[in-house]
Amino acid sequence: LTRSRSAVRMAMERTYIMIKPDGVQRGLVGEIIKRFEQRGYKLGALKLYQANEDLLRKHYGDLQEKPFFPGLLKYMTSGPVTCMVWEGENVVRMGRQMLGETNPQASAPGTIRGDFSIVVGRNICHGSDSVASAEKEIKLWFDDNEVLAWKDHSHAWVYE
Ligand code: GDP
Ligand code: MG
Repeated sequence: LTRSRSAVRMAMERTYIMIKPDGVQRGLVGEIIKRFEQRGYKLGALKLYQANEDLLRKHYGDLQEKPFFPGLLKYMTSGPVTCMVWEGENVVRMGRQMLGETNPQASAPGTIRGDFSIVVGRNICHGSDSVASAEKEIKLWFDDNEVLAWKDHSHAWVYE
């Protein structure tokens, strides 16, 4: 059986990446954007935003019963976050890999959490954990007109 090259090629995806209030306060916005940009991913949306509890309860719906949840709400509303959409091949899984593990002490050096953070309650960034949650989170954090489709001229130099 033969398969065309395009049939085995990974699908283009979008992921929701967010720099948490500690990442913004510590001046890591540029550094984190840089890593996604220089790898070759395409920026789809970007804004500095003050989140409220309502939005965070939706975003972290699966964690509401956890003992750390009140602290997580306080942390995430303590200052602005930076909301981003990044697009590219397999970007959901690759984005999680670039972030590192939830616990920074389990994160390899070279990852964002592994390079810039020490404890789980101040782990500086968020990344969607599946294609389905990415699409849900993008809808939650952005209005439709804030997510742009544009021609990326480096596409032909990043992809075969
Ligand atoms: P993520 O997908 O890697 O961000 O991890 P989770 O979805 O499991 O948790 C969401 C966020 O909640 C984490 O990034 C942490 O900021 C926070 N969190 C998770 N587990 C703990 C914990 O045990 N203690 C504290 N203080 N925060 C936690
Ligand atoms: Mg998560």
